[in-house]
Amino acid sequence: MRAVGVHADAVVAVSGFWQTTSTALRAGEEAFLIDSPVLPAELEALPSLLAQAAFPQVQGLLVTHGDWDHLLGRYAFPDASIGCGESTAQRLRAEPGAAQRELRAFDDEHYVERPGPLSLPTPQMLPVPGHCGIGEQELELHTADGHTVDGMAILIPWASVLVCGDYLSPVEIPWLSESGSASAYLATLDRLEPLVERVEHVVPGHGGAIDAERALALLREDRAYLTALLEQGEAAPLPLARRTGAQRKIHAENVTRVPA
Ligand SMILES: [Zn+2]
Repeated sequence: MRAVGVHADAVVAVSGFWQTTSTALRAGEEAFLIDSPVLPAELEALPSLLAQAAFPQVQGLLVTHGDWDHLLGRYAFPDASIGCGESTAQRLRAEPGAAQRELRAFDDEHYVERPGPLSLPTPQMLPVPGHCGIGEQELELHTADGHTVDGMAILIPWASVLVCGDYLSPVEIPWLSESGSASAYLATLDRLEPLVERVEHVVPGHGGAIDAERALALLREDRAYLTALLEQGEAAPLPLARRTGAQRKIHAENVTRVPA
């Protein structure tokens, strides 16, 4: 796991698996963690890493969306509450135990041992679009769906950071999961564009913090890819720097999720 401070109040940790990001932020005496790293040792190391950065104890876990790899924060902070948008709360309610089952399948496949089962308390529903207070500050919450049916992007105004969930990734092409939608994804890119223009750093769900200029370049590439996917299906060209075997597999999945 690598950890980078992008602001005095915001630390971004990148997991050794899938480069899943988690962002710790603080305001006064309050600290939140957005999303989570994947591996047990990384989750175990988070509290002392943040203590070294003089962060107060994390009391709130915010999740950008309900995919299991972003929901593991309780392994690091077992007493913290979980906050998410209504769309994510609905999804978690509609599929009880789904995140735990998928986590168990992942752990079985990769021989990963956890200290116990994942506990997911009933999340606190946050207004999206809307605001969420932390210390004396406020976070902006914006709708970000299309990768999945649910999702929110979190703008941290005083730190000039946008944590956007599984969009604008330098390592992953746009991924339409089973509940995803290309048109909703494109609408989210339109919504994210002016937000990216307001910040210095963007933290995508996978791949680590990037500067806003790079995020805007990725946004244009992703928009072009999805537009081509809708028009040409399988023949749509992948973004130049994201053409590995793994990305072609995601592309093949995407092809099945747009109208033929
Ligand atoms: Zn993800």
